[in-house]
Amino acid sequence: MDIKNIESSVVKLQNLDMNFYKKKGIFSQPQVVNALHEINFSINKGEVVILVGESGSGKTTMANVIAGLLKPTAGTYEFNGNNINSLTKEQYKEYRNSIQMIQQDSYAALNPMRTMIKSLGDPMLLKKYVNKKDLYDKVSELLETVELTPTDHFIDKYSHQLSGGQRQRMLIARAISMNPELILADEPVSMIDVSLRVAILNLIARLNQERNIAVLYITHDLATARYVGKNGRIAVMYLGTIVETGNVQEVLADPKHPYLRALLSAVPIPDPRLSRMRKKLMITSADLPSITNLPTGCRFHTRCIYCKDICKTQEPKPVQHGSSVVACHLVNELPKFELYEKDAVGLTEDLYA
Ligand code: SF4
Repeated sequence: MDIKNIESSVVKLQNLDMNFYKKKGIFSQPQVVNALHEINFSINKGEVVILVGESGSGKTTMANVIAGLLKPTAGTYEFNGNNINSLTKEQYKEYRNSIQMIQQDSYAALNPMRTMIKSLGDPMLLKKYVNKKDLYDKVSELLETVELTPTDHFIDKYSHQLSGGQRQRMLIARAISMNPELILADEPVSMIDVSLRVAILNLIARLNQERNIAVLYITHDLATARYVGKNGRIAVMYLGTIVETGNVQEVLADPKHPYLRALLSAVPIPDPRLSRMRKKLMITSADLPSITNLPTGCRFHTRCIYCKDICKTQEPKPVQHGSSVVACHLVNELPKFELYEKDAVGLTEDLYA
């Protein structure tokens, strides 16, 4: 690609803000909704990054900014070391092709009037990635890659003739048909049967390793986050801010930010013995504050069990703490994270192996 490539990061966001404007009536002033706030974030080539947080935390807004579907209100966005505002028309097309999405809802994402060969083939013909003569073979090769075999059985099927897992594989095939550098996978397994999830997660991991495609995996499910991001990084979002980042295994083994501790304390455990030994939910309220009326200071202070006066007035800045970067005033004073009331050693060993 002719876009200059001076850094190892595919995507780099600096001090990025995304505001939406909401009007209540014709004569009222628009209300500012700050959906992303001072985001500093990057994804390196071939890296898996997990973006985790509850609904309304800004994960999908961030994915839409990265994909070029939303223009940020402030801050800079670099793609392969180039500010996206300074790309030429051709470079901009290349940038949009290099970032592909795997959506959560495969029903909505696929055109019901098109067969698999049309859905996969037309974009490739349009972008001249393949000629008509080789189209059937190219589409068969893509279906084979995503394990939709025998390919002749699937190539002329419509999306309603496929199961949820097969449609999700189809979305993955469509994403890789554009030879992307980065795939944004937005809750890709949340709408399919639990029994099929691991196969889809393994497929995404295989494409990452074999083709060196970077993956931003967006989820609210810490179990799949741990599975997909085995060797990757994690970024935890809360109400439009990133509150903790670091290596997935290290961050989840020793969470620093009280919000991440609360998320971990809420993960269901399929072992009743362990469940009984678990500490109570580490949060003062289950309700997320409204994005239109954000708390002052630390955005998590209305739900934080460790909140002090400083938290209500001053916004914490992200600082390096061990191998993680954490945005919390009291990160050096917090007690060690313990998930269980009693010693559960031995019982927990197999749980997340
Ligand atoms: Fe809790 Fe204060 Fe840290 Fe925010 S800054 S997470 S309110 S301890």
